[in-house]
Amino acid sequence: MAGHAPSRPRNRGSGSGCLSPHPPPPAVDAVRLDWRASVQFDRCRVAAWTCAEHLRVWYELCRAGGLVFLRRTHQRGGHLVVTYSEAWVERRGVEMWAGVLSGRVR
Ligand SMILES: [Zn+2]
Repeated sequence: MAGHAPSRPRNRGSGSGCLSPHPPPPAVDAVRLDWRASVQFDRCRVAAWTCAEHLRVWYELCRAGGLVFLRRTHQRGGHLVVTYSEAWVERRGVEMWAGVLSGRVR
């Protein structure tokens, strides 16, 4: 059993290829999201994610209750620290996700 650790998407491939995006470092003027320790939804569906194999911080696009929010996981010591963005309507949430992938949002 893996215990209660959050799920960690992985890419088990041939080694060199990585199909998940690697977000660039945030832009100097990147939008800073308000990352919170909890979210108002008990369950969500993860629709997209960044690479969790090569980077120490990764992001997931989650859908719940008709809204979209982002989940950020990072390794700190031997622990995984999970935080969440606020929840947006679909279009806004997808914009934020695109911003994370391009370094404009973090
Ligand atoms: Zn990778």
